[in-house]
Amino acid sequence: MTLCLSRLAPSPTGALHLGNARTFLINWALAHQNEWRLILRIEDLDGPRIQPGAQAQVIEILNWLGIDYEEPVLVQSADMSPYEDVIGELSARDAIFACQLSRSEIQQAASAPHQDSHELRFSPNLRPEDSIAYSFSHPDQNYRLMVPDQEVTFEDGFAGLIKHHPHQEVGDFVVWTKRGVPAYQLAVVVDDARQGITDVVRADDLLPSTARQILIYQALGWKIPRFWHFPLVCGPDGRRLAKRHGDTRLTFYRDAGVHPERIIGLLAFWSGIVEHRTELTANDFRNGFQLSKVSHHAITFTQEDHQWLMAETSPISHE
Ligand code: GLU
Repeated sequence: MTLCLSRLAPSPTGALHLGNARTFLINWALAHQNEWRLILRIEDLDGPRIQPGAQAQVIEILNWLGIDYEEPVLVQSADMSPYEDVIGELSARDAIFACQLSRSEIQQAASAPHQDSHELRFSPNLRPEDSIAYSFSHPDQNYRLMVPDQEVTFEDGFAGLIKHHPHQEVGDFVVWTKRGVPAYQLAVVVDDARQGITDVVRADDLLPSTARQILIYQALGWKIPRFWHFPLVCGPDGRRLAKRHGDTRLTFYRDAGVHPERIIGLLAFWSGIVEHRTELTANDFRNGFQLSKVSHHAITFTQEDHQWLMAETSPISHE
């Protein structure tokens, strides 16, 4: 039997909400049911969004929910050398180039944006002519991956056959930022590969990113993990959970005195485990979880859900 390994990969932005909790709980349940090992990785390279103290908070919240994982925890910012090595490797393979163009310069050169996306597409016509740009020599500049003109397809463990065309959707995307750190797309590939992750579980808003990450794996000649993408939790307006839907952060509910069993009960209701909202433990969720019962549609967080969570609270005192 091959030993499988999965990871929880929160970003410590202080905004872990019910949607993140659902994905973590599903990841944890899948790991237990399939005898995968599970580790925690703190993805803290997204400079401006990272909040002091949020890392400890993520760990507290996972404990509070009853989601466990193996130590040690990897914190991305602790060691930059793996990312530097890999950007060097991409450079040696002539797969990247330095780019100092501004957003408006890229916009001017772009044809109409891809129909499903509001992203700015980097046209291959903008690739530099100067060969020096193709070697990684200035970590304080943006570097982009040369994206081949091909469709990327993969079989997702939950979402089925997925097809994307990064060349048409975004074109050459940034893999290294002028802040001197890898972009999310590169960092996640480096970490998943060096940690030996076999199964990546996350929300389906990252499907287009997965196609981009596959191109990085291919550029490096690395083995691609198996992916499992689950529907996002959205607000009643159909948009992904965010501040506009009120405070849906787990810390808000915890501090309001909501018991974790209520949160898990709601997540179980959203995941086809129970037909009515009812208090459950993480172990109940794990034992009842069945992939075939999980809806393929986005989940809507309703006012009723919120009211149910808040119905029996005992506020925590902060003395
Ligand atoms: N750190 C990312 C996030 O919180 C998750 C990335 C991933 O699972 O690949 O959105």
